[in-house]
Amino acid sequence: MHRLVMTIISLAIFLLPLQVSNAAGDAAVGAPDAKPALQAPSLKNDAAVLSKLDKNAKKQITALRWANHIDAVTGLSKLRLVLDVSSPVTVGSSIIGSPVPQLSVDIKGAGPGDIKNTYEFDGRIAESLTVTAAGADTTRLIMQLPLMLDESDYKVFTLRADPANNKPFRVVIDIGQKIPPIKFNFTAGLKDKVIVLDPGHGGSDPGAVGPGKTMEKTITLAVAQRLKPLLEKSGAKVFLTRNDDRDVFGPNASAVDELSARTTVANNNKADIFVSIHINSFTNPIASGIATYYYQKTPYDALLASSIQSSIAPASGLLNRGINAANFYVIKRTVMPAVLTELGFISNPDEEKLMNTADFQQKMAQSIYLGLDKFFNQAARLGGGQ
Ligand SMILES: [Zn+2]
Repeated sequence: MHRLVMTIISLAIFLLPLQVSNAAGDAAVGAPDAKPALQAPSLKNDAAVLSKLDKNAKKQITALRWANHIDAVTGLSKLRLVLDVSSPVTVGSSIIGSPVPQLSVDIKGAGPGDIKNTYEFDGRIAESLTVTAAGADTTRLIMQLPLMLDESDYKVFTLRADPANNKPFRVVIDIGQKIPPIKFNFTAGLKDKVIVLDPGHGGSDPGAVGPGKTMEKTITLAVAQRLKPLLEKSGAKVFLTRNDDRDVFGPNASAVDELSARTTVANNNKADIFVSIHINSFTNPIASGIATYYYQKTPYDALLASSIQSSIAPASGLLNRGINAANFYVIKRTVMPAVLTELGFISNPDEEKLMNTADFQQKMAQSIYLGLDKFFNQAARLGGGQ
């Protein structure tokens, strides 16, 4: 399987259960600097307070942890990130919109200490966090977010040390969950529909490579570029996550950054439908066929998959591998119905040759187009809402 699948597997591992804070706010997610003898949570804050009292102690972050809370009024989740610091600091923050939504927080007066460089979240409120030193005495936190934030959606503040309760100086980052645009009202036809097409891979990432050296990224882009004008002729508004041979986030970015840059195009454009186009690959060159994957997060994901698969499979002439539920990042983290198609196996020499032909690429574009048209008609018949 190609890198996307590997990414999905590793992402599944990253889906850490969020720790629920206890009364002391002490959900210990990573206390990397704690000495073995100090690992018990009740002792961790003692250690931080003691190190604060040590005049020679380095000014640094000593621990980072987070917890999810449910807002009693709105019912929405809130992510609270708490950093213990060895001495008082000041904080500054800003939102970065491009290439993906990010929250940047500078902690002035403390280095990153021994905390980890990266943290992964479950993606509902934050995707990941990177920690870097920014100058001699400043730590920079960059949080990758699934959706753009407004200023009112987050708060960054400090809490003074509270030695009586064994609490060190702390920096707190609260981020509220956005209400995603998941109200559907699907009507028949493609007119005025917003469709985001995602040609898999690109730039520094070729995707799978066939025995004849065909790169997955080339075929996926060719099909998306043939599909776009067909949809536009029917009145749809179409965005491609990339329109040439490039990385969407940037060259050699992490897999999460690259994939979240793609879902962001769909989420920020309030797309009705997201279609990610890929080519399959396997170690055995006999493996063949065409398949469509979905993640059932709305009432329409499976319907979208079957509408497209039932159109592309006969048009391709390839083995029909059907529709399959899958936990792939791009179909899970898009808020609208989404599918990921695998248009044949690049590792199969016959299918590799076929997918290089203009005829096959056009057939795939035409049949995805017909599948999308069929989807909107069927969704409308089902009521179109949610
Ligand atoms: Zn792929």
